[in-house]
Amino acid sequence: MRELYLKAPAKINLALHIKGLREDGFHELQMIMQSISLADRIKLKKKSGGIVVKTSHVELPTDEENLAYQAAEIFFEEHKEVKQGVEIYIEKNIPIAAGMAGGSTDAAAVMKGLHQLFETETDYETMRKRLVTIGSDVPFCLEGGTAYASGKGEILESLPFIGEKHLVIVTPSFKISTPKVYKLYDQLNNKNSSNFNAVLDNLKNEEKINWNLDYKNDLKEAAEKICSEIREVKDIFKNTKAQFTMISGSGPTVFSLYSSRKQAEKVAAKWPRKNDFVTVVKTIDKY
Ligand code: ATP
Repeated sequence: MRELYLKAPAKINLALHIKGLREDGFHELQMIMQSISLADRIKLKKKSGGIVVKTSHVELPTDEENLAYQAAEIFFEEHKEVKQGVEIYIEKNIPIAAGMAGGSTDAAAVMKGLHQLFETETDYETMRKRLVTIGSDVPFCLEGGTAYASGKGEILESLPFIGEKHLVIVTPSFKISTPKVYKLYDQLNNKNSSNFNAVLDNLKNEEKINWNLDYKNDLKEAAEKICSEIREVKDIFKNTKAQFTMISGSGPTVFSLYSSRKQAEKVAAKWPRKNDFVTVVKTIDKY
């Protein structure tokens, strides 16, 4: 095999709780992660040596700053027996710095893809531990689906797939830096009273999902202070027949869940804010 094509799906958070600050300076997280059909496309091609990244998006770094590059670096460090290099092409479809794990999913896909391309042994447990050094969403992005992530994001428990749900995703053009949101969150010194466990217990029950529970994203307040457009987007969603509306990750993406694709498409077609990225997607199971 000389080259390989991969899909790198985005994620949304159905809930995000910050339990506290760890001794290592990271936040202790509890997140419900869900993969969606919006995806980057990646091509890996063997080359004689080194790592080269090319992308369809002019704003993306192509050097060590690119998370896909970092994943490839980890792979080659760990597999000295592989004497070749790789060219990575990223077709960017997921909005950047939007709270949908765009960079993380590219990194996870590249790590998985390189194992396939060079036929090295795949051990997800080890890969997760290595990849969490790149970012807290990367371990989840290896397999996707519906999952409960805790710790820094490396402890994963698969949950029953919530089923094929239709969503409208809206991303204001304002880019949000995830570290900036966490920093403001710390400064706001929030004491979160969370009912995360009730949400988690409900999602473990395959029979019936109760969308009326108090799903929360603890980063909401900080993200809304940084980007006021989040509230404007939520206000527009309020007047639609959404079953559920939520900010994803550190924002500014907001998504709403609808009972049918038709309804979601109607909302998207009439979206009044012209500079937003608006798309209809569906939830997807493990890949
Ligand atoms: P998360 O939801 O995991 O917090 P995000 O979706 O908010 O992440 P990304 O799209 O991953 O954010 O981008 C965050 C930063 O990472 C940007 O500043 C971007 O330049 C950089 N970056 C590095 N590599 C990539 C990549 N392959 N795709 C997107 N962004 C990347």
